[in-house]
Parts: sequence; C-alpha cells; structure tokens
Amino acid sequence: MLDHTHEPAARSWLDTANSPGTDFPVQNLPFAVFRRRGTAEGFRGGVAIGDQVLDLAALAADRPFDGLAAEALGAAAGDTLNDLMALGPPAWRALRYALFALLGSGASETSVRAARGALVPMNSVEYALPARIGNYTDFYTSIHHARNVGRVIRPDDPLTPNFQWMPIAYHGRASSVVVSGTPFRRPMGQAMAPGASAPFYGPCRQLDYELELGFYIGPGNALGEPVPISQARDHIFGMCLLNDWSARDHQFWEMAPLGPFLGKNFCTSVSPWVVTLDALAPYRVPFERPAGDPQPLGYLDDPAERADGGLDIALEVWLESAAHRARGLAPHRLSATSFRHQYWTIAQMLAQHTVGGCNLQPGDLLGTGTISGPTAPEAGAIVELSLGGTRAIELSSTGETRTFLEDGDSVILRGWCERPGAARIGFGECRGTVLPAMA
Ligand code: CA
Repeated sequence: MLDHTHEPAARSWLDTANSPGTDFPVQNLPFAVFRRRGTAEGFRGGVAIGDQVLDLAALAADRPFDGLAAEALGAAAGDTLNDLMALGPPAWRALRYALFALLGSGASETSVRAARGALVPMNSVEYALPARIGNYTDFYTSIHHARNVGRVIRPDDPLTPNFQWMPIAYHGRASSVVVSGTPFRRPMGQAMAPGASAPFYGPCRQLDYELELGFYIGPGNALGEPVPISQARDHIFGMCLLNDWSARDHQFWEMAPLGPFLGKNFCTSVSPWVVTLDALAPYRVPFERPAGDPQPLGYLDDPAERADGGLDIALEVWLESAAHRARGLAPHRLSATSFRHQYWTIAQMLAQHTVGGCNLQPGDLLGTGTISGPTAPEAGAIVELSLGGTRAIELSSTGETRTFLEDGDSVILRGWCERPGAARIGFGECRGTVLPAMA
C-alpha cells in the first residue's frame, strides 16, 4: 500500500536527503546498528537520512513519540534490531510515520531541534550486524544462475527437476555472517582437480562472490505452524544486500550428496542498512511465470503475489583490486541486473521454509540466492562471467585479468530502486575484502 511517506515530492529539512542521487531520502528510512567509529560507545539503532545517521537511542531519550511509535522507537534503540523486528507491521508503520513527520519538511521547530541533536555524520560511524541472527538459510531462486552454474557442473542437464516447482535452499551458517567492511581469509580446504585421482588440500583456487539480497524475519511462527503465503509478507521486516562468498573448488567437490558445506560457511557479508518492505512498496512488480512453465502449487500461489510479489531492485557488482586502490583508480563494474527476474518471490521462499512446520524467529536471515539476469552480462557470480574459469575478464583501468578472485580484491555490491513517479531509494553498499589464506 502506498501512502504519504512514498510521495515523490516529499522533502526533508536536511538538504542532503534531497540530493537527486542519494540512497537515503525521507521516503527510505532504513535501519542499521552503529556507533561513532573508533569509540567505545555502545552500538545502537540508527536510521539513514541523507549523509547522516539519526541516533535512535539519543532520540528515544527525548521521548518524542507516543503509543506504538514510542514502543517501536524504544525497541530500535538497543544494540540489535531483534526487538523491533519482533513487533510486526503495525508498529513498524507507526515508527515510519513518526520518523517521516520528524525528518520531513513539515516538522515543527522543536522536532527539528530534537532530531538535529541526534544526527551523526554517516562518514564517521562504524556498523555492527543489524540483528542477532539465530539462523541463516540461503535459497537458490534465479533460474538464469541455476542454468549458468548447472552448465559448469552438469552440461547435459543444467536445471534440476525440482527447481521450477519450489524455491530450493540449504541451511547456511549464521555465525560467519559479517557486516560490510569486514575482511575475511581465503579458506583452506579440499578439492579435486579435473582428471586427478585424489583430492588436494590447500587454499581455495576458485574463490567467488554471489550477488544476493537477504531478508530479515520479523515476528516468528510457532514450531509446527506454517506461515500461509497470504500472510508471509507480515513476517518480513526488510531487505539487505548479501554476498555469499563461495569456494567453488571446495563446493563442487563436497556438494554431492548433502549440499554446500565448507564451500559456503567461511563468510557471508551483509550491508549494514536494512530497507523495510514499506519503503520498497513503490517498486513491487507482478510475479510472472513464462507461458509453458509449471505454475506454483496452491500453497505457493496467492493473488497478491501474482499482482505484485516481485521487486524491481537494481543491483550492481564492482571489483576493486589492490592495484585499483594503490593507484587511486575507480573500481571495475563486473555486472548489473535486477531482482525482478527472480523465479520465486520472497513470500514464496518464506512459505516454503515454514510449510513443514519449521519455526522462524525474529532476526533470522534468509538469502535469495544468487541474482543473475537473463543475459550473460547480468550474471551475479564470477564463475558465470568467466564461464567456469575458462574466460578471463579484463579489469578496466588496470588491465589486470580475473577468472576468480585474488587476494586483496574487494567486491562491492550496490542496490537501489528508481522509476518514474517514485522517489529513488537505495541500500548503500556491501563490501568485503579477500585476505591471504592462513599459512
Ligand atoms: Ca548463494
């Protein structure tokens, strides 16, 4: 549902929130957990506005809101957003309306004074994970990614028979989810070289990224009580950028028959900012199945999903090598696509996750799986762009080439939404840097 908080003409009294290219206008209002960089301050909830972070703990001390909005503000002021996530859509919406009124151009002088006192420049903060993530599951829902990767593993039969009938997934590792900016070591492990008779042990030779979105669970469900697809959206707090770092050589050797394990569990990066489903409402698009494809079974089908279950979120992957950094050069754009091409919606993923009775809890993280668009340049992983490592990609401005990631490489994910008649909103970025393997 669109309301006054989505009005494209709405402005903030903070000028940087009105800049045409900003990710954080007053229509967005995403949440993160932050503190001033390099201090021993406690982490607390914040909301992005222009080039500033609104400190929700400082704001809450002023008691500016009443009722549900006050309750939600209190829940967002702690060192994780789990309590806010647990409250559910009416409280989230009440807080969104109150923050919109506080930060919008119609705010009273008293409000502006209170809010100004709680602003911290975004370039001076550091972030923690936005939630205490109890569980992390990663789906596999881009048919283009499934076909591209399937061709590398099983050239004669790239798409598994279940793919078009249900959103498939594996249980990931919550403990190694890190916030953007956290570097990680190239993993050690076991892999089988082509034509070899025994595996070798050593640093990963085929390190990859995966362009994904994540979504955080709001109110959970009781064990044994599935969430019907018609109610799935009410259990989703918001979305983030997610990079599922992947050790392809380890993954391809270990994956049969139980699925990914060490190839995926050494690190997953998420953006600090969580964009709420309310903020994303103007960018909903119909969920469409190509004619001739299987239609979703009843428990995965819903009129609302067909009407607007998809989300048109523009996404980009950039690679910044050590040479780019040393020479002060701009990073190289590896690919660009949109989430609207995904084969399954986030509500279908949530319904599938719970259909057997699995209980989700506030702050659980679900990944969408790699997001690859229909054409080759829209691929969301380097294993696709390099055709399984057989075609080198040349990096602009340094002339270096890549088939997989090298030590010192930073991968930067960016995401935003824009269309005529709506305000542009963005996710900021999700960045991670590869460190050499532990000797
Ligand atoms: Ca993945």
